[in-house]
Amino acid sequence: MRRFFVEEIRERDGTCSITGSEAKHITKVLRMKTGDRFVLMDGKGARFQVTIESATPREVQVVLGKSIPKPPPSPVKIMLCQALLKSRQMDYLIQKTSELGVDRILPFSSVRTVISLRKDRALGKLRHWREIAQNSAKQSDRNIPAEIETFSPFKELVIKEKWKDALKVILWEQERSQDLKSLLKAFSPVEKFVGMVGPEGGFTHEEIGIATDAGFVPVSLGNRILRSETAAIAMVAIIQYEWGDLSHKR
Ligand code: SAM
Repeated sequence: MRRFFVEEIRERDGTCSITGSEAKHITKVLRMKTGDRFVLMDGKGARFQVTIESATPREVQVVLGKSIPKPPPSPVKIMLCQALLKSRQMDYLIQKTSELGVDRILPFSSVRTVISLRKDRALGKLRHWREIAQNSAKQSDRNIPAEIETFSPFKELVIKEKWKDALKVILWEQERSQDLKSLLKAFSPVEKFVGMVGPEGGFTHEEIGIATDAGFVPVSLGNRILRSETAAIAMVAIIQYEWGDLSHKR
């Protein structure tokens, strides 16, 4: 069944109005009509089966049906700190890691980041990324889309965000003594995992030092040098596979 998001669902009202791009999509692209059914979600966890009562491109009015139980959350919350990449790669990374169940994505700029995000464009970019995360949530039946945070400089991000009780790693292709596989074997499953991935030019030694001082463990993903988005997607998949919900068993 198709899935759509609204800001708020007031259960006691028994109905809900959908406007904006979702209303246009329902009526103009999907040509759904009175009587058609879909799943409505509020992005905070509530989900209902709904039936269209009236539909115009400006407003779709629905009647709430039965509430759909929330899927259990993944046992591990994954925060991905990601160096800014070119538009296409960044969009791809947000889509794929969202499908894999990343909880938060925190974009940052570092010494070798070649992409600059002009202040006047930052808000539009953030809106665009959040839309991608929301579409991924619809596609993958997540009831809460991945949160995309505002962009910050590397040092600020590492120092500001403390992530107490989290296992924090920084992916570094030059790391020779610790790899992610051995690290995960040495640790019992954690509830919070923070993974940091660098730009195409990689991290500088100084940045690795700053991150290490802030409690990040530098780890390698083996001898092959992966593109930044490949490294991020692989890392999220590995964590979900080892400690998360890429299975039905707990
Ligand atoms: N400029 C570097 C070079 O050519 O040696 C490669 C940087 S890589 C394209 C981009 C980012 O992906 C890195 O900063 C790192 O975070 C991550 N990465 C890629 N391959 C990795 C590996 N084998 N182990 C750990 N991290 C890796």
